[in-house]
Amino acid sequence: MSKKNHLFSPEDERFRQQVRDWLEASKPRTPRPSDAQGQREYDLGWQRTQYEGGWAGIAWPKEYGGLGLPLIRQLIWYEEYARAEAPHVGASMVGLNHGGPTLIVRASDEQKAFHLPKILKGEVVWSQGFSEPGSGSDLASLRTKGRVEDGHLVVNGQKIWTSYAHISDYQELLVRTDPDSSRHRGLTWIICDMKLPGITIRPIRNMVGDHHFNEVFYDNVRIPLANVVGQIGEGWSVAMSTLGFERGTAHARDQIELSLELEKLIAYAKVHPGPDGVRPAIKDDEFAGRLAMLRAEMSALRSLVYTMVSRIEKTGSPGPEGSIVRLYFAETKQRMTRLAADLLGVAAIERHRVEGLSALDYLNSLRFTISAGTAEIQRNIIGERILGLPRGK
Ligand SMILES: Cc1cc2nc3c(=O)[nH]c(=O)nc-3n(C[C@H](O)[C@H](O)[C@H](O)COP(=O)(O)OP(=O)(O)OC[C@H]3O[C@@H](n4cnc5c(N)ncnc54)[C@H](O)[C@@H]3O)c2cc1C
Repeated sequence: MSKKNHLFSPEDERFRQQVRDWLEASKPRTPRPSDAQGQREYDLGWQRTQYEGGWAGIAWPKEYGGLGLPLIRQLIWYEEYARAEAPHVGASMVGLNHGGPTLIVRASDEQKAFHLPKILKGEVVWSQGFSEPGSGSDLASLRTKGRVEDGHLVVNGQKIWTSYAHISDYQELLVRTDPDSSRHRGLTWIICDMKLPGITIRPIRNMVGDHHFNEVFYDNVRIPLANVVGQIGEGWSVAMSTLGFERGTAHARDQIELSLELEKLIAYAKVHPGPDGVRPAIKDDEFAGRLAMLRAEMSALRSLVYTMVSRIEKTGSPGPEGSIVRLYFAETKQRMTRLAADLLGVAAIERHRVEGLSALDYLNSLRFTISAGTAEIQRNIIGERILGLPRGK
């Protein structure tokens, strides 16, 4: 988090100081509860505090409650947010990081005026209903149906791995509206009110034991056509906007946070014994080499995030290049959490944190090469859409 960076003007640095002071004074000091409703209240409450403090939606349009500032200020906010160890965005993730941004670029004025302020004010939780059993990487094969009837889309089918569905108010839902279509054609992106009759939500526990995602079943769910974002049948292109944000900017804060986590690990390795049980771990050649390599990788990751932000300033969207940052972040995060588990040794199997570190972080990190497109899918995108390599079969 160097202050002397050509990227930042003196005004940017003044902004940074204001952010730093505000976060220090206002960040929550109580731990996030472990139950679903408690987490919802905690995450929305913290978002509300940011809104009331005048800090929500740094780069969102002013007319919908944002600050309308350049993305570089958003980056500064993320850097300071990570530095302050403010709480993870949690249940506000979908709304703030890809649902809201999709609405900004694709929704009607009425849809924006209704939904965007609610997201910024911390009034609602959003979830994402894209993946289905058998349609994850191959999203274009999805089969959940939407039938147009009396000004409504009548939805039948099933989604899976839906994060926060059990505590969400709205969903970015992708359905097949043309039964004769296949693949990318004939899909529609619609805002689904999760309180509508006909929706059943079943929990799935992940390998850490947390209830984070769900199966969602739709049985004749009637959604007003006014909730369609874009046009009926144009859902694929709207979904590509969503995935662009999800792969490109949604984890910018996590990416910045990673380098701070590494510094904690280095501090740990300086004072705790390594494999010989006597010398500090950092004196061990293997650990020292892995830590040094990770520090270099953190610099590369930070440069990639800056490059992505500059690109979005010019083009308005991360584009396929977001996949480079996403993939590099995911794999670096896994290497780092694996190293943390190796350093902690026996303590790693404890469920609690040891000086801010935990083996559960490694298990949790495995999701980053699956969600928002697996590592293989990101490599396909980089190969085909950035490097211009021939398409796979
Ligand atoms: C923590 C987490 C949160 C999630 N949250 C949500 C959510 O909120 N909403 C939602 O809709 N989804 C969510 N998902 C689902 C996620 O989008 C899918 O898991 C992901 O797209 C992969 O799909 P799949 O699980 O069906 O695996 P599959 O697509 O069946 O892939 C299985 C394996 O085959 C490989 N593979 C598949 N196709 C190719 C190919 N063309 N080339 C090379 N390799 C290939 C994959 O890389 C993978 O290793 C979440 C997933 C996780 C882990």
